[in-house]
Amino acid sequence: MTSTPPKALHPDTLAVRAAVPRSSYGENSEALYLTSGFVQPDADTSARRFAGEEDGYTYGRTSNPTVTSLEMRLAAMEGTEACMATSSGMSAVMLMCFALLKSGDHVIISQSMFGSTLKLIGSEFARFGVQTSIVPQTDLDAWRRAVTPQTRLLFAETPTNPLTEVCDIAALADIAHSAGAWLAVDNCFASPALQRPVEYGADIIMHSGTKFLDGQGRVMAGALCAPQTMVTEKFLPVIKNAGMVLSPFNAWVVLKGLETLGIRIQAQSAQALALAQWLETHPAVARVHYPGLPSHPQHALAMRQMSGVGGAVLSFEVKSDSPEQGRVRAFQVLDHLEVMSLCTNLGDTKTLLAHPASTSHGKLSETQRQAAGIGQGLIRVAVGLEHLHDIRTDLERGLSLIA
Ligand SMILES: *Cc1c(COP(=O)(O)O)cnc(C)c1O
Repeated sequence: MTSTPPKALHPDTLAVRAAVPRSSYGENSEALYLTSGFVQPDADTSARRFAGEEDGYTYGRTSNPTVTSLEMRLAAMEGTEACMATSSGMSAVMLMCFALLKSGDHVIISQSMFGSTLKLIGSEFARFGVQTSIVPQTDLDAWRRAVTPQTRLLFAETPTNPLTEVCDIAALADIAHSAGAWLAVDNCFASPALQRPVEYGADIIMHSGTKFLDGQGRVMAGALCAPQTMVTEKFLPVIKNAGMVLSPFNAWVVLKGLETLGIRIQAQSAQALALAQWLETHPAVARVHYPGLPSHPQHALAMRQMSGVGGAVLSFEVKSDSPEQGRVRAFQVLDHLEVMSLCTNLGDTKTLLAHPASTSHGKLSETQRQAAGIGQGLIRVAVGLEHLHDIRTDLERGLSLIA
């Protein structure tokens, strides 16, 4: 359940203010309505609410005022009419596919999508007759060539994990719309503070609230931001029956996280840029992937699309003569950390490092991994708010053993 926020206010203001009205107690911080059911004033009202003829809360699998506040706030920040919160980022993907696709439909996704997204759409939905084409992230002609008369959905993620490849949202929206399909964008890495895909023509914005929206590594959450009719007519009927709802407690945590999203991601991105520049000159480092660096293949596009900021996630490859040596050296860097965390999450105020080749991309064969550009020496850094000097010192402990 959502209502359109006042459009006159800046998204930064709505990030702090958009919510359901205060209760009669006048609380200043948004209330946490930790309840599964709602008492109905009378049987007639109850009947109208259940028939969908009147707004009003009935049961937690349909809606909850704290969850509504999060939905209003995130929709306002993304610039969409409405939003539907879900229990995790992956349940948002599942809700979207469940609600929009049927057997015989065709989807196009990039080969650089989040691993679980690739598996859920490419394998699980294939069991129900949904066909999927998997194309290179930045090759617009490949996206165009993959379109069939059955294509209903193009789904992109930008920047991607962990190589930070950037795709042109406006160009993909054109391809989708001329095929009569929707464009969905996973906006997890940039967040609405840096990138608002609707402004480039995207129809649906998918989020893992687990990452930058919470921002402090506390809860799982997800969301789909979309036009009001899609939320009301497509997503709501499915989530009501399928039950991938967000808990009010988690909604409240993310709601409060959104208030500081803008300043967090600006500060973390500034640190990421400084770290990327330092790593690029480091003798033990072969390559740095970061959209804010001029050496990034889609640097100009990224700067245009992401408010001139590269985001808070980068990855780098340690120098090595072989994949085996790359793995040993990457492990050496990770095992010498004394401050930062070895943790596959991202979007936290704590800096988190991960070794994609043995974790998120661990199930690929060495050949598939090479094709995906995920070397054994690759390390992902999701930059947090520790002092930059301490971040560099923590990395240098292991890197100095290589150079
Ligand atoms: C984490 C992540 C997801 C999945 O979200 P969960 O909340 O973990 O289910 C999807 N896409 C991207 C880009 C992610 O980083």
